[in-house]
Amino acid sequence: AKADGRNVARFFDPGMQDAADRRAAFEAAMRNGLSLGQFRLFCQPQFDGAGRAVGAEVLVRWQRGEHDLIGPDQFIGFAEESGLILQLGEHVLKESCRALARWHLDPQLGRLKLAVNVSVHQMRDPGFPASVANILDGTGAPPERLYLELTESVFAEDMHEITQRMHELRSHGICFSLDDFGTGYSSLAYLKRFPLSALKIDRSFVRDLGVDPGSASIVEAIIALARNFKLEIVAEGVEYEAQRDFLVDGGCSSMQGYLLGRPMPIDEFEHAYGAAGIG
Ligand code: C2E
Ligand code: CA
Ligand code: CA
Ligand code: CA
Repeated sequence: AKADGRNVARFFDPGMQDAADRRAAFEAAMRNGLSLGQFRLFCQPQFDGAGRAVGAEVLVRWQRGEHDLIGPDQFIGFAEESGLILQLGEHVLKESCRALARWHLDPQLGRLKLAVNVSVHQMRDPGFPASVANILDGTGAPPERLYLELTESVFAEDMHEITQRMHELRSHGICFSLDDFGTGYSSLAYLKRFPLSALKIDRSFVRDLGVDPGSASIVEAIIALARNFKLEIVAEGVEYEAQRDFLVDGGCSSMQGYLLGRPMPIDEFEHAYGAAGIG
């Protein structure tokens, strides 16, 4: 029977029970990780066309052990399904605002914006704006430096509810960026209806610059669109000089990518981009 195991596995899903057990174990591990402070903030720098650092994006990683660092693609989806994203998101926001408050005291870091990814599940939570306001108050972070990155998936939500929530957060001085622009439910109507400050060009378009003429046209069109709507523009996934040159020539206001800087632990980021003294 043992020799048949592989064949059997082809016809049967691993038992429901096993899958449920695995989920329960993963959820327990995540809860434990949250309570132990294992979810660490990494920062990836963003630059303007002249090569000056203008901001950073926070990217979370799960440090499960000294040599065991897990990327968000392996746990954000699960965190969203299980509801743990609310706790994780709050942790990331709190640590991000603590960083902004520290940076405020540094002449270099104090000029940077900090972008934080926010899940649609957080935006669905009626208590979210108040919780963000509390975090801002408690940490003393300058709200105008905080950018919340939303994906186009928010547009599938109750439009009235989401815009109201965004306006409430805007009233505290916080800005919104639309992440992965061009890959989802984009409709130009949303650009007018939602209080956005920035668009992020998805890295799939940047990747194909110089390979696929269609991508160049899309990037040019997005930059023109952003200019008309008076939105800042951030291109992500810049890996080659040719891509950067194309974006700079096209008038892209800022960019991030491995060519310019990799995500790094936040203390390392503070060392690299601060004036000295902190980090
Ligand atoms: P994203 O928001 O689109 O973040 C950009 C991702 O692209 C990051 O992957 C980053 O490390 C990667 N990247 C940056 N530059 C380059 C480049 O030049 N080339 C390539 N190939 N990749 C580049 P990461 O850190 O694995 O994050 C993946 C996704 O996880 C993020 O995509 C974001 O959607 C999500 N995520 C990360 N942190 C959080 C968080 O705190 N909360 C929530 N809700 N989602 C998060
Ligand atoms: Ca993002
Ligand atoms: Ca993105
Ligand atoms: Ca993405």
